[in-house]
Amino acid sequence: MTSWIYISGRGHSGSTMLDIMLGNASDIQSVGELVAGMGRYEAKCSCGEKFKNCSYWRDVRIRFEERAGASWDDAVQESLRQAHISRLPATILATSETKWVKRLRRYCEHIADSLSQSQQKRIVDSSKEITRAIFLLRFVPESRVIHLIRHPVNVLQSDYRRLNKGSGLNYLRKRLQPRRWYGPYLLLSASSWLAGNLLVEAIRMIHPDKYLRIHYEDLIRQPIEEVEKIEKFIDVSLDEIKRKIKEQEPFKISHNIGGNHMRMKGSFVLDPKKAHRSGLPKRYAILANIICWPLLLLYGYSWRKIQ
Ligand SMILES: [Zn+2]
Repeated sequence: MTSWIYISGRGHSGSTMLDIMLGNASDIQSVGELVAGMGRYEAKCSCGEKFKNCSYWRDVRIRFEERAGASWDDAVQESLRQAHISRLPATILATSETKWVKRLRRYCEHIADSLSQSQQKRIVDSSKEITRAIFLLRFVPESRVIHLIRHPVNVLQSDYRRLNKGSGLNYLRKRLQPRRWYGPYLLLSASSWLAGNLLVEAIRMIHPDKYLRIHYEDLIRQPIEEVEKIEKFIDVSLDEIKRKIKEQEPFKISHNIGGNHMRMKGSFVLDPKKAHRSGLPKRYAILANIICWPLLLLYGYSWRKIQ
């Protein structure tokens, strides 16, 4: 049976980067943000083809439909419905005998088996939705959650850049793009950082053996140590990834869907300078620190000054 490595946490925390890095291990297939991407037929896969035309994904859909005896679109609908935050209470209260749980668990197992190539026994999914993390840990055997966190000031910096470029913020599957007065939107982003990460902390308390917290800043600063933590956690050799880090060899990107623009680059080399971009007005940095302080303390993050 193929097992599921699920990256949870907030957006702009480096999940696409970690997803791609892990996909460079021979035993792991990296897929990107599966929940969001699996139904977007017109969106591009990282290979450059549209999702509907990419031969890898076409084969996955065919294999899935043969094994599950259900259509791929049924799996898309069920996945999207369950992963929405409004399904959090239902996901917590459900039992393994609940009808929709049985159905989605079967879909998840067939998706995982259809995704993995013969020798690959694990898939990485960086969908991040917390409701899906809870579902996998409760109902899909052998699932693991990596909680990727990043300082909220840096997360708000990414949001601020997107707002300035007119790319908008994604919030509960809606795109928000104010013309000016970014304050309320960044306030919403900082509050979501706190609430979202608190929910994943609750997962840690319930499933401590299936949870690993990784700081994005550590992954950039001391990648070998962090990869070794993940290696121990998922019990798969990540020697190939460590070798690429040491030799500054580019990480290959296979057939990722639904993640950020980074996945379209074909390959990338880990760049420590990326962790220190600025550009966020100081008032918003202060806002992020005030709202997120309880978790800043827990995570050992310092009050972050912005040049
Ligand atoms: Zn592709």
